[in-house]
Amino acid sequence: MTERKIVVLASNNKGKLREFAAMFEPLHIDIRPQADYGIPEAEETGLTFVENAILKARNACEHSGLPAMADDSGIEVDALQGAPGIYSARYAGPECDDQANNQKLVTALRDVPPLERSARYRACLIYMRHAADPAPIIAEGVWEGRIIDDPRGKNGFGYDPYFLLPDRGITSAELPPEEKNRISHRAIALRILLEKIKQHDAHS
Ligand code: IMP
Repeated sequence: MTERKIVVLASNNKGKLREFAAMFEPLHIDIRPQADYGIPEAEETGLTFVENAILKARNACEHSGLPAMADDSGIEVDALQGAPGIYSARYAGPECDDQANNQKLVTALRDVPPLERSARYRACLIYMRHAADPAPIIAEGVWEGRIIDDPRGKNGFGYDPYFLLPDRGITSAELPPEEKNRISHRAIALRILLEKIKQHDAHS
């Protein structure tokens, strides 16, 4: 029987846990949330997605003594020089909610014409074999769209009701969840990470 490997996910988000668990099942990898090991959340003091994801993964490795994965994601708006970027979750303040973030975004884009509101979701995923791993495996996925003024759709979370997929004419909140999970920035990054881990394992 193939030996199963445990990898800690530096997140306690149930949706992410399910997505990761399903993707890694064929590799005989069990994904466990960091809460199972009583791991405190890492401070996200980095200035880039990749730095923050590494901080989270390293923190999980340090506390568990196991390999760990982490993700960091957000939305970048070109007319705002990439903001909110790594601050997407806390754009309108440390304790803010999705509605406050979206309100701030729409206000910031008040004078920007619809066709100049290009934006993208970005997800960065990290796999670290141990806390001192000098070469974490890094995978990135991007998903292009445009910011609109009035929300549409009830699915998803965060900026989804304002994130228009121009070739479809709908927002990511109007996509069925299964479809979003197949084509999103996170789905793209996850597939790339999986491929890289497979290749890495084949050569080690
Ligand atoms: P985190 O990487 O889970 O901390 O997510 C960062 C933030 O980016 C979220 O709180 C959302 O505001 C935004 N974000 C990331 N991915 C998505 C998405 O798929 N839809 C909507 N918002 C997202």
